Amino acid sequence: MYQALQITQPESGYRCDLTELDDSALPEGDVTVQVAWSTINYKDGLAITGRSPVVRKFPMVPGIDFAGTVIDSQHPRFKAGDRVVLNGWGVGETHPGGLAQKARVKGDWLVALPAGFSERDAMAIGTAGYTAMLCVQALQDHWAARGVNPGSGEVLVTGAGGGVGSVAIALLAALGHTVVASTGRPAEADYLRSLGAADVIDRATLSAPGKPLQKERWIGVVDSVGSHTLANACASTRYGGAVAACGLAQGMDLPASVAPFILRGVTLYGIDSVMAPMARREAAWAALDRLIDRPKLAAMTRAIPLAQALQAGQDILAGQVRGRLVVDVNA
Ligand code: NDP
Repeated sequence: MYQALQITQPESGYRCDLTELDDSALPEGDVTVQVAWSTINYKDGLAITGRSPVVRKFPMVPGIDFAGTVIDSQHPRFKAGDRVVLNGWGVGETHPGGLAQKARVKGDWLVALPAGFSERDAMAIGTAGYTAMLCVQALQDHWAARGVNPGSGEVLVTGAGGGVGSVAIALLAALGHTVVASTGRPAEADYLRSLGAADVIDRATLSAPGKPLQKERWIGVVDSVGSHTLANACASTRYGGAVAACGLAQGMDLPASVAPFILRGVTLYGIDSVMAPMARREAAWAALDRLIDRPKLAAMTRAIPLAQALQAGQDILAGQVRGRLVVDVNA
């Protein structure tokens, strides 16, 4: 038996409960993992509350990521005792996920945990932080191709107080960039500066409808917010700059014009972490191991037991979670 959150869809609605499951509830897969830590990402909030239809099979164990130790493997790359991390692939949406003490998945989905990370560190980064790394890598590749050096301009991070935003600030600062953090929580300005932000701006300056072309400011943007914020970020990106878009915390719409793209050569990169190929995942985790400052990671992270994950799902959608929430599934 093992403890897990489980989402069901009884006739009268949608429920998520802490429950005990028998090993026979584990799905198909060639690797079984003793989960140590999982997390609460924005998408987990959507799954736990049922706010958006991210869960497409019932019953479902939520949790789009986990870190733990292999108990049993039929996969050639993994053996019992190996430490692994999983992000995405529909886990926690169409395949039972990480908010449980055990998980069974395809070995092809797993990344070997870099030796420099504990399982808790790996989940302090989690899917939010790994996605932040994918965004930063898209910007780095863009800048490298154009000979843009760190320090040559400001980089904007939106949704700065959230998981993707907090990790993106720490990574960009570690690379020597001047980071401007956009937040709706001015009280968190000191926290954002402690992660490496040089300046903190009110997200209201970006979240309302704006002109198609605005004063050129950013050499790059990491945007986890979407909607008008993403449109304004593109409109204020400097000639030849780039925007990495990964999220929709403000909205899924993109009320923008083509002006920044055709008049300033701005590039908009779409970042998907869920189906990213293995080589990109391994490169991202290796870069995270090199770049992420462990004390900063600890400062942006709070741990909760599995039973509190239900409430945390509501809190993250309400924008009340600062940085990252890790879940001790064995507490
Ligand atoms: P968080 O909730 O931790 O962070 C989102 C942040 O966005 C909030 O903390 C808040 O920051 C800001 N925000 C919230 N609501 C609004 C609003 N109405 N208008 C403007 N800003 C708002 O979530 P995550 O960091 O886990 O995820 C961020 C986004 O990235 C989500 O949309 C998520 O689905 C997406 N994502 C996408 C992935 C992919 O593969 N493409 C992978 C991981 C995440 P503040 O208070 O500082 O303003």
